[in-house]
Amino acid sequence: MHDVPLLINITLALIVAFVGGVIARRIGLPTIVGYLLAGIAIGPFTPGFVGDIETIQQLAELGVIFLMFGVGLHFSFQDLWNVRDIAIPGALIQTAFATLLGFGLSQLWGWTPLAGLVLGLAISVASTVVLLRGLMDNSLLNTSHGQAAVGWLVMEDILSVLILVLMPTFAASAGTFNGRDLAITLLKAAAFVAIMFFAGTRLLPWLLEKIAHTRSRELFILAILAITLGTAMSASELFGVSLALGAFVAGAIISQSHLSHQVGADLFSFRETFSVLFFVSVGMLVNPVFLWQNMGQVVSLGLLVVFGKAIIVILMGFFFPRPARTFLVVAVGLSQVGEFSFILGQGGLSLNLLDSNQYSLILAAALISITVNPFMYKLLPWLETQLRRIPGFWKKLDANSHILEIKKDKLVDHVVIIGYGRVGKHMVDVLEKLSVPMLVIEADADRITSLNQRKIPTLYGDASNSEVINHAHLDRASVLVVTIPDETSAELIVTAARDLNPDLPIVARAASEDGVKLLSEQGANHTIHPELEGGLEMVHHTLLSLGYPLQEVHRYAEAVRKDRYDFNITTDEEHRSLHELLVAFQGIEIAWLTLADNSSLVGKSLAEANIRAQTGASVVALLRNEQLVANPKSMTVFEIGDRVGFIGEKEQLETVTALISDGSPL
Ligand code: AMP
Repeated sequence: MHDVPLLINITLALIVAFVGGVIARRIGLPTIVGYLLAGIAIGPFTPGFVGDIETIQQLAELGVIFLMFGVGLHFSFQDLWNVRDIAIPGALIQTAFATLLGFGLSQLWGWTPLAGLVLGLAISVASTVVLLRGLMDNSLLNTSHGQAAVGWLVMEDILSVLILVLMPTFAASAGTFNGRDLAITLLKAAAFVAIMFFAGTRLLPWLLEKIAHTRSRELFILAILAITLGTAMSASELFGVSLALGAFVAGAIISQSHLSHQVGADLFSFRETFSVLFFVSVGMLVNPVFLWQNMGQVVSLGLLVVFGKAIIVILMGFFFPRPARTFLVVAVGLSQVGEFSFILGQGGLSLNLLDSNQYSLILAAALISITVNPFMYKLLPWLETQLRRIPGFWKKLDANSHILEIKKDKLVDHVVIIGYGRVGKHMVDVLEKLSVPMLVIEADADRITSLNQRKIPTLYGDASNSEVINHAHLDRASVLVVTIPDETSAELIVTAARDLNPDLPIVARAASEDGVKLLSEQGANHTIHPELEGGLEMVHHTLLSLGYPLQEVHRYAEAVRKDRYDFNITTDEEHRSLHELLVAFQGIEIAWLTLADNSSLVGKSLAEANIRAQTGASVVALLRNEQLVANPKSMTVFEIGDRVGFIGEKEQLETVTALISDGSPL
């Protein structure tokens, strides 16, 4: 047997994480809690199998890189800018107060000031993953309150990145303020960021674009991995800044490219896998015995994170011109700590600012706050009712609520079109002419380029990937049109869209008759089967050319449509319609003739043409511009392109045909 500890460690870590995650989900907790507990289970402080911390931590570094790249990818100056009045001062004040509270508590426990500072900073920043999950689960993400919380967190992200940059310098100078070292660190970080923003913003999106045009998915994914890891490593090796900052900047640069959603989607599995390993590795460092013995500290830190941070935010409501509810939502959303705290804590640990027991405490606080967070949202209505009951309190807190709702400027009441191929193109052309706002999601980079040239908003990526479809703002769209031929993807898209917006009208393309049924069941309101439509159109024209009456042909096609698209109807209707069609045709000869420009009928009225007197046949119908006129009036004037229906004996009709087609006067 070969000795394969790496493989064993990865396998085991993933298996226990999987089991932990499933159990957490089953009892209604975030999966992160399961991963952390799984880490504790295979950690050195608990009996049973002990994973190799070093190996798992190296893999966990990849998790940090991908997580931070993801944070960068979703980082949006625009989000921050929209809510800058509240998010920037709010995040700064909350971080400062939360750090102070954490620091104060640590001093009661006799920690060194530096350890206290790391603890304070670690509990002051909330987890992006937990916040977004919580807002989404409670349908708050796209409200003005949710947007404020997201902007607030973006600001906290920036602060955390700054702290990560500065922490090694502080550690090296043993807490004393060494201006020179600090300046050098900041200069190096600034040089890295400047180079990335000047050269990187040109080079990286250009490179990705080129690779996207090769249409090799594999090369595209490799390019993303190379960019992410390459930037993070060079940040740390060449500029001495953290891997985390490097990855964050790479993500922020790629986020400017229109390919960013596909990048996020392709990186999704890597990010999930390695961040799971990161959470497991975090759990492995927790010493449950120490926590048990210091329950008082664990509980007080947990209370500080859950309630202390929330109270700071609520009190800020007295000073900012926003509705009270915004502060309640932000308070609940940010009353937790997660990955950033782990990253900061690990930084503190590796720089010997913290010992492993102190680190365990941070993790315990994170575990408690993440576990409690979903229940905090449930408490929101109750909390609001209680606060309203306190005389004068709510009035003051809500005093500024008349200045509210941020503008959801860009995409509102838009039509989301998936696929810009043979089918989607018609949709885009019509909506463009009608100036209806739309967003096209397309997986082909060339097609995206041509749409962009027409200034049509696009998302590049596979729409069946939830990372991509989530960015289409389906919650405020007017219609979703799924034009792609692949039925499995279409089903995934329709299901996801129904989840995101239960009332959205969905028009979908099916590739088979089974597909029509399945898509309708998943929530599509109208399902179109292009082959069926094409077939019916061909039947329509063939039957008309054979002289069958238009109305009957039409009725037959409608019966087939009803039968194929509406599952309450049986094929009997189709048979009946076909039967009627045959009956209508029996015994009567109807000839449908089209008037060419040289036809002698053109320009004459029915009375002037006097057809019955000349040939014996009668005009019974006229088809003009797809409108059928039965028994046209005698003053009706014939036009070029009219289809005229005649009845009569065979010979009579032959006479009419000859007269009309050779242009000789009647
Ligand atoms: P057509 O079959 O000609 O209507 O073309 C379908 C179009 O949809 C093509 O341009 C494809 O690139 C695009 N497409 C197919 N599957 C997806 C998908 N899952 N997400 C986004 N675009 C897609």
